[in-house]
Amino acid sequence: MKSKYQKIKGTFDILPPETEVWQHIESTVHNICQQFSFEEIRTPAIESVDLFKRNIGDETDVSKEMFVWEDQSGKEISLKPEMTAPVVRAYIESGFFRKHPLCKLYYIDSFFRREKPQKGRQRQFNQFGVEAFGTKNSEQDAEIILIAKQILKQLNINNTNLGINNIGDSDTRSQYESKLRTYFNDHKNHLSELSQLRLEKNPMRILDSKEKEDQTIIENAPLIRDLLSRQEKEHFNSVLKHLDGLGIDYNENPYLVRGLDYYNGTTFEITTQSASSQNALCGGGRYDSLVKKMGGPETPAVGFAAGIERIILESKQELSEKNIDIYISCNNEKYASKGFNIIHNLIENGYKIFFDTNKKNIKNQIKDAVKNNAKFIITIDETISIKNLSSKKEKNISENEILTFLKTQ
Ligand code: AMP
Repeated sequence: MKSKYQKIKGTFDILPPETEVWQHIESTVHNICQQFSFEEIRTPAIESVDLFKRNIGDETDVSKEMFVWEDQSGKEISLKPEMTAPVVRAYIESGFFRKHPLCKLYYIDSFFRREKPQKGRQRQFNQFGVEAFGTKNSEQDAEIILIAKQILKQLNINNTNLGINNIGDSDTRSQYESKLRTYFNDHKNHLSELSQLRLEKNPMRILDSKEKEDQTIIENAPLIRDLLSRQEKEHFNSVLKHLDGLGIDYNENPYLVRGLDYYNGTTFEITTQSASSQNALCGGGRYDSLVKKMGGPETPAVGFAAGIERIILESKQELSEKNIDIYISCNNEKYASKGFNIIHNLIENGYKIFFDTNKKNIKNQIKDAVKNNAKFIITIDETISIKNLSSKKEKNISENEILTFLKTQ
């Protein structure tokens, strides 16, 4: 039978039992972030278009791919394509920065980008991430990398590469940009079409290019590290020293510039070792000027975002079998209130039940209970019986004996 309606291109339903995998990832993220005393933030799904255009950059892929519409009052609204700008907005707007000069936040949320859908690239996708406000110190960069690695480790994803770079401050970047523009202009005719388009507005993005014909030109491009100030170099070296101390392997990647305008200083990416072009699991870096730019006080910050769909493609988590403790058969409405009392009591005492509200006949209920790995079936009628589905032993029981009986099993 064909449904009259289909989901929107680039979006996916997540159905049981896969939802279990999501719950496992989400609880791992909650647990680990909270162990590091990061606190959860939730922001609306919609924001003003301006928030993103002005802060992640007009010319970035992310702002060009936003889902945008005009609401009834003529205001331009967007579904959020990323979380850093909304978190910064909330941090300033709520006055949170006054109470929390050092503020460590995390989130798990859905984001929307109108990209060409392919494996690992969706129009609605999910990320978790952290944002730490209030310090320039290299320990903060290292702490968030440790959190990302720790979450991946707990999810059994160990075969990853951490690429790390420092892209300097905005002055260094604009110097570097004009150096790169001159260099790439000299090689313009050999660049891919996409890179030629990027040349004028965002030459640093060419360094991210995956196009074959760009690779040798990129390999010989000027490096940002040659323009870094002494302070920036020292910061970078001390982040690397912390990672060494933690035993976290990394590759210095001088071409890792990240796509959005607000980044400065440390940038990093965690990729899988697969050859797929969608191999980035997690990306992040510093954005020390964004809070000020958005109207807040001078507040350095650093964060990352990780893609949950990509993590699921990598993780080989086994789905656990259903583990119902007690299957409930109560087919006669006359005894429903007795049935509900028993159910209520079992739930309060921590048991997992399945109530067959469909009221199949008892033969089929037993089949169903066995299929779903239930340990017991309780049949509620004028009398109550309980059957151990592995030993097949069955006995009549009174309502107030059920818990004691179960405890002795
Ligand atoms: P970004 O916000 O672009 O830095 O992306 C951070 C992470 O989110 C990436 O490393 C991916 O794992 C994931 N991601 C970004 N865009 C998508 C998408 N369209 N579909 C699925 N995952 C994505």
